[in-house]
This record gives sequence, structure tokens and C-alpha cells, in this order.
Amino acid sequence: MLDGGGDLDGEPAGNLITGSAAEGFRVSWFPDMGTACMIAHGGHVRAIGWLSDQHPFPTGDTPPEFLARLKEFCRRWFDGLEPLAWGGFMGPHQCELCWRSAASGNIGVPAGDVLFAAPEMVAHYVEAHRYVPPPEFVAAVLSAPLPGTPEYAEAVAAFREVKMRQLAEWRAELDRRSQTTTDLA
Ligand SMILES: [Zn+2]
Repeated sequence: MLDGGGDLDGEPAGNLITGSAAEGFRVSWFPDMGTACMIAHGGHVRAIGWLSDQHPFPTGDTPPEFLARLKEFCRRWFDGLEPLAWGGFMGPHQCELCWRSAASGNIGVPAGDVLFAAPEMVAHYVEAHRYVPPPEFVAAVLSAPLPGTPEYAEAVAAFREVKMRQLAEWRAELDRRSQTTTDLA
């Protein structure tokens, strides 16, 4: 079992939303330490905490100072948007492990040339479901500057550049597509 929270193979919980409408409320699953997630992608990205009830994840104890600092990061997720050039509100997602918690933000935690990207829900996963993220992420949370500080903006400046470039490429691609559509019309 993942965290002793319930039998995944049993009857769905009474409050489980079913059907396609539920998909929009779920956090999409991405493997820990992968280079892509909902909010960022690239060689510098390490995805963290994009959990799902369909995929097992490590559980156990984490240092209390880690959870406290992680919560502070999550409280400040909005302050990270501008320095990271991340999109804002992407809609609330609900914890599909217990359906008792919802969050809509994402956090970026810099560590040298790596940017850890996690949903705001990650603090809930650690606290309520005893999720143990990779040690690299724990170390980064404990040592990285907090969003909303000049030190944070400086630490993520290079990642912001990459994001801006990706957005420009995306826009160019959209322009190309709309051009093609126009040509076909
Ligand atoms: Zn939960």
C-alpha cells in the first residue's frame, strides 16, 4: 500500500469524482526527478511531487525543518511566478489520495543549475501522506532562498531566460500553425 490510506483496488470512496470531468481536477502524474511536468520542462528541470493514486511513491519520515520550510515555499508560490516567468492560475487541483485538500499553485526551488518544480500540493503530500521526496529536493528546500526575495530572483534568473525562450518558440509555433490553417482555408 502506498501510505496506508486506503485500498486502491476496493470500492471507490464515496466522494471520488468519476468521469472525464474529474480529470481537470487531478494533478497530472510525472515521475520524480524527470525533466518535465505541468509547469516546466527542459534539461534543468527536475519534477517533484506530481503524485497520483495510480503510482506508488516512497513514504516515511522527513525532517520537521524540511516540512516547515517547504510550507513557507508553498505559502509564497505566487511570489515565484514573475521571477520564474511561470503561468499563473491553472485551476485548482485536488489531492486524489484523500480528496480533502486542494491547491492551485506551483513552486520552483533552485539548486545551482537545477530547478525543482513541484505542485503546491507537495507540502500536503509530505504532511498528510508521508511522502518522502528525493534527498536532492530536501536539501534544496533547506538551502534555497525563498520566493519574494532578491536572492530568489537571482537564483532563478537563468531558468527564467530558458522559460522566456520556450514561450517565444511556442508562440512562433502557434503562429506557424495558424498560418497553415489560414492557407488551407
Ligand atoms: Zn491528500
